[in-house]
Amino acid sequence: MTGFTSKILHADRRGRIEHGSIHKPVHTAVTYAYDDAHDLAAVFQGDQPGYTYGRQVNPTVTALADKVTLMEQGVATAAFGTGMAAIGTTFFALLRAGDHVVASSFLFGNTNSLFNSFAEHGIEVTFVDATSTDAVADAVKGSTKLVFVETISNPRTQVTDLVGIGQLCRDRGLIYIVDNTMTTPYLFQPKNVDASLIINSLTKYIGGHGNALGGAVTEAGNFDWSTFPHIYDNYKKGDPSGWAIQQIKKKGIRDFGASLGPEAAHHISVGSDTLALRMEQACANARVITEYLNAHPAIKKVYFPGLPDHPEHERANELFRYPGAIFSVELTEMDCFEFLNRLDLVICTSNLGDTRSLGIPVAHSIYFEMGPERRASMGIDDSLVRFSIGIEDTDDLLADFEQALR
Ligand SMILES: *Cc1c(COP(=O)(O)O)cnc(C)c1O
Repeated sequence: MTGFTSKILHADRRGRIEHGSIHKPVHTAVTYAYDDAHDLAAVFQGDQPGYTYGRQVNPTVTALADKVTLMEQGVATAAFGTGMAAIGTTFFALLRAGDHVVASSFLFGNTNSLFNSFAEHGIEVTFVDATSTDAVADAVKGSTKLVFVETISNPRTQVTDLVGIGQLCRDRGLIYIVDNTMTTPYLFQPKNVDASLIINSLTKYIGGHGNALGGAVTEAGNFDWSTFPHIYDNYKKGDPSGWAIQQIKKKGIRDFGASLGPEAAHHISVGSDTLALRMEQACANARVITEYLNAHPAIKKVYFPGLPDHPEHERANELFRYPGAIFSVELTEMDCFEFLNRLDLVICTSNLGDTRSLGIPVAHSIYFEMGPERRASMGIDDSLVRFSIGIEDTDDLLADFEQALR
């Protein structure tokens, strides 16, 4: 069985679920009991698999984490209450004051804000243009431990030099974290460009229905953790490829508490079954809509890696199955509020990766707090509208854009 969908569809069932259940049940118990106290001790000491306390681990959540590992063809996954929790907890568990991080300057807004907070706690962060490996290489210094990038940035859709930076991190022995949220493991597997750890916001495409929050970090199996100085002796058990994820689970989730709940894990797991089908339709829709908008006089500019005039068009073609389903437009004359208000099928809201098409006036909402100067430096025009295209029937979606621009 090699297909993306067949593999994940049958993942739960093949995990030998009680009563032959074909979904992992929603296990709501907070704690797990042992007949023999020796077994409880062995589980606590990491010598025997098992469940202890719900903040740390839960069977429904583990089943979802295993599914994400399958999707990313990784080694192991830790799941969290949100995507931000996945990123924050990973940094919290692996880095120390005095460490240096090189990060893309075109990050998801909250990730950018989080890294600025870490900087105030003694972890130095340098933001660079990650479409260029040279820019990343120039920022690396003796205290650099980690490079953090996204695959396609939002809202301006810059495509990171994922291969070049992977090679750089391998040569310099740096941890390479790739946030795969925008592309998902169906369009791209960061493991293949030497990523050490892969982030996915499960809230977005993987869950896919806008009804549950979640996040994940997956060990790709490329990094030699025996060379990393910040792994505690307690977690140096077994193959070094499992050490970091152990530490993220123990020091990170257990101590920090940003756990994923079983109900949310169940929603996300069911949603994830159709990830590939949804991506096929959303990406096909995005291609049709961007071609239409790109030729329309009311539209000044369309930012989408699928268009030939995009600066990283070739790179996107080489790396990704499709160039995604997120794009942004600048308008010539029409007010961006009017444009959004005239759209009927497209919902005016934040979030992305939903089954339904969503649009948002970026400068006036998610990037408002940044102020006009920082927005200008990131190339975010006041008229910029970001769209996350959903799985509606293509003709209906196209008709909606046509009537809104008429
Ligand atoms: C949404 C998003 C996150 C954060 O995920 P949440 O589940 O909303 O916390 C992180 N990275 C990217 C690229 C995102 O789009």
